[in-house]
Amino acid sequence: MNKFTAQKSNADDARRNIPSVDAVINKSGNLIDRWGHQRVTLVTRNILNDVRTKLVLDNSDLVSVEFLVEEVERTLNAADKSSFKEIINLTGTVLHTNFGRAVLPREAIDAINRVAESPTNLEYDLSNAGRGERDDHVEQLVCELVGSEAATIVNNNAAALLLVLNTLAENGEIPVSRGELVEIGGSFRIPDIMQRSGCSLVEIGATNRTHLKDYSQAINSRTSLLMKVHTSNFKIEGFTAEVKEKELAQLAKKEGIPFVCDVGSGNIIDLSQYGLPKESMVGDAIQNGADVVTFSGDKLLGGPQSGIIAGRKDLIDRIRCNPLKRALRPDKITLAALSEVLKLYRSPEKLVDALPTLRFLVRNVDEIMQQADSIKIIIEKLLPPIYSVKTESCLSQIGSGALPIENIPSFGIAITAKKDSDLRALLKALRLLPRPVIGRLNDKKLLLDLRCLDCEDHFINQIKKIRDLLE
Ligand SMILES: *Cc1c(COP(=O)(O)O)cnc(C)c1O
Repeated sequence: MNKFTAQKSNADDARRNIPSVDAVINKSGNLIDRWGHQRVTLVTRNILNDVRTKLVLDNSDLVSVEFLVEEVERTLNAADKSSFKEIINLTGTVLHTNFGRAVLPREAIDAINRVAESPTNLEYDLSNAGRGERDDHVEQLVCELVGSEAATIVNNNAAALLLVLNTLAENGEIPVSRGELVEIGGSFRIPDIMQRSGCSLVEIGATNRTHLKDYSQAINSRTSLLMKVHTSNFKIEGFTAEVKEKELAQLAKKEGIPFVCDVGSGNIIDLSQYGLPKESMVGDAIQNGADVVTFSGDKLLGGPQSGIIAGRKDLIDRIRCNPLKRALRPDKITLAALSEVLKLYRSPEKLVDALPTLRFLVRNVDEIMQQADSIKIIIEKLLPPIYSVKTESCLSQIGSGALPIENIPSFGIAITAKKDSDLRALLKALRLLPRPVIGRLNDKKLLLDLRCLDCEDHFINQIKKIRDLLE
């Protein structure tokens, strides 16, 4: 008998000794209570198949019923884990698109729970038992805060722009300044959205300078509206000229066509009252004569992902009647959260405490510095000595294209290692934590900007687990 056949007959023996599906199921009472007979049987069968295949390859004896029951439980638990993880954002970017942008205030979270748990009057008018309009839950609030006649809500600002352009400009031409043909976050480009809306873009002016006469010369009988896009994620400096909203509004009025502003980040209050750079407000565009404005609900506004369209009632009514609105409308959860966020804006002096986005943005650098000092001492003890830990001043960003060139002074922890591979290992270990910690790597240094660190204990509890992941 050669070596191969000897091994093979051992494997055959081992396979004969594999417990049956029933034998495993009989010992899996508590698993069946939790996951049901069908699911447990399926997983057990798959695991036994794997074991059988494995036994052909190597002659191991890991086939006790107890081992198999444990294996079934491990598999079921792993499959039930959510792919979503709460992370600790220490990148210094307050509104990070990849991290889901704004963290919602308590009031919004409670409202989400209420409407999720029960049927609601989303589109039902309780006063006359008739059909209601889902925008009713937020329209008045938006109008009050930005000074518009009417408003409607869709799933994000890209959808808002698509819907506005498709309603007001399909088959028409729109002159847009070359300085405003922006790309926002990789997949969103103004020219692409315009094309998909069914309108033709007429590029006018130069990247750095566009004048009123560029607009008036481009207008013809096919021109359906005038548009201005707030170039929210870059700034052109130097020899520049752009046409003011007021002038564009006047020109549009003279031509009898609407003037649309994509104001992007959706700032509805004066941020300079909190010591932040002054950013133009949605209400300013309306005051300057914009007939329709669009902005995001989850950028500076600090709410759920949504796109807000505000403006003249006759135009909003047309926008609402577009069949595409049905495809772009938000659900009750978004509307419930957005309505609570908007309500908070009625009390500007309470906003910093109530709205996480604003709270992070206005955190005082001295306070962050003190936090960094105390955390540094703890982290230093928890990390292996190959890492050097310092505190360091740094610059946070608002993110999501809001105030792109304005950085906010902040403070953080800077970690370095002699070997690049050690630093990479640390970055990886931080990502593998139960609550992953994401910092930013710059110039061979890992920087943990503490601006958005809401709960210090969470963070320290995570770092306590880092050594196991580094080994
Ligand atoms: C962010 C942004 C958008 C896209 O908004 P989303 O809500 O991400 O869809 C469109 N226009 C401008 C000017 C923006 O800043």
